Parts: sequence; C-alpha cells; structure tokens
Amino acid sequence: MSSALLSVRGLDAYYGAAQILFSIDLELSAGEVVALMGRNGAGKTTTIETIMGLVSRRSGSVQFKGKELVGLRPHEVARLGLGFVPEDRRIFSDLTVLENLEVGRRPPRNAANDGGGRSWTPDRLFELFPNLAEARNRPAGRMSGGEQQMLTVARALMGNPLAILLDEPSEGIAPIIVEQMIGMVHELKRSGVSVLISEQNIEFAAAVADRAYVIEHGLIKFSAAMNDLVGNEQVRRAHLEL
Ligand code: ATP
Repeated sequence: MSSALLSVRGLDAYYGAAQILFSIDLELSAGEVVALMGRNGAGKTTTIETIMGLVSRRSGSVQFKGKELVGLRPHEVARLGLGFVPEDRRIFSDLTVLENLEVGRRPPRNAANDGGGRSWTPDRLFELFPNLAEARNRPAGRMSGGEQQMLTVARALMGNPLAILLDEPSEGIAPIIVEQMIGMVHELKRSGVSVLISEQNIEFAAAVADRAYVIEHGLIKFSAAMNDLVGNEQVRRAHLEL
C-alpha cells in the first residue's frame, strides 16, 4: 500500500462514450506541491474533476488517507479533507468577500475528526491576501478576475482541507496576482497543506512545485522532480510548448 496522502491508480474517465483519461497514476504526499502539466485539452481538468467525483463514469482507484474515493459523491470527498478550486471562479458575486469566506467555513480538524489541527479564519486569510482584506466588505463580484480567483482559494481553505486541488490558478490573471498566488502556494505548503495544481505555465509551476507530471491525450507521459522537467527541453517541447 502506498504511503501517499493521495494515490491515483489506473484511473480511467469517460464523457459519454469518449474515453478521456487512460490509466492515470499519480501521487501526492503529505506536505508536497505537485504540478499536473499539459497543453489545452490534455486532460488536466478532467483528472482533477474525476478525483473529486465530478465525472461519474470512471474506473480505477483514488485513495485519500487510505480511503477509496471512487464511488463517493463530491461533497463526501470534500468532507474527507480534499479541497477543490475549479478553473471558473464560482464566487457569490452579490455577497461580500467576508460572506463568501463564511460560506466555506467548516469545523477545524482535530485529533477527534482526524488529523491536521489547522484552522483557517478570515483574519488569517486576510493576512495572506491583503487584496481581499481591503475588499472584505465589498461585493465579491466587483473584484478583478485574479482577486476572485484568490477568493475561491481562500474560501476552499476555510474548509480546513488537508490537501487542495487547484485547477489552473494562473490562467488569465494579472502578473501581480500571479505573484501573490505563488506566495499563497508557498504559504499553503508551510502550513502543511498538500497541493495538486493543474497548470500550463511552466514558470508558475517551477516557482511552486516539488514534482511534476506531464499529461497528453489523457495519458501521463512523464513524471519527475520539477527541476528535472524545467531542465528537460525535449519533454517540454514535445508535450508542453505550443
Ligand atoms: P484546458 O487547459 O483547456 O482546461 P485540460 O487539460 O484541462 O485543458 P480537459 O478540460 O480535461 O483538458 O479536456 C480533456 C478532453 O476532454 C478534451 O479533449 C476535451 O475536449 C474533452 N472534454 C472536456 N470536457 C468535456 C465534456 N463535458 N464533454 C465531452 N468532452 C469533454
């Protein structure tokens, strides 16, 4: 048995009759930041959504803390401590920033309800994201796309996850917010939250990830330490660059 926090083995997924993922294997260990890299349409979002239970036609195994997730509903997966931040920023635009955070609040994890002991509060999140602090009493819909992205991450943290799946966090956001996102992922790692990030941007991945997997046409083509991927021009050309 694997000692990884999250262990994906032989995962297949389908949309209707079309098979999208082909026997995906990947692991995320406690405290690790791992990047899932690939071009548009490679299968990054499908991998993350299948792990979360959002793609119903799937087979193979996804274990989180030794528990099998295949067969569970997305809210059951989230309750086990796996947070998810989708690519499209689903914030409540009429609620304030603070209210959006409160929507995500879950009881802290402790020895009784299993591991961690961390507890995120709006104040702690506002320290991490000064932009959100300034906007705390404003409707979330008035913030920039990048700030909204940050809010979705902050809201997921309010659920005190042990691990978090971030789907293309740097996509379409301003460079200054990308810098803050990098700082945020470092902070998550420091606080012991494990992170799986789907990403096309190698600079972003290189700034945050310990290891990387490269996916193409629903198959894992390469896996290595992040530095080895950065240094491997052949793999980058073949599977990542346009
Ligand atoms: P992107 O960067 O564009 O989000 P991705 O690597 O996340 O790319 P996916 O969104 O997982 O890729 O898409 C993988 C494949 O699945 C693509 O061929 C896509 O066309 C197909 N696909 C995605 N969503 C659906 C759907 N709801 N129904 C049918 N096919 C889909």
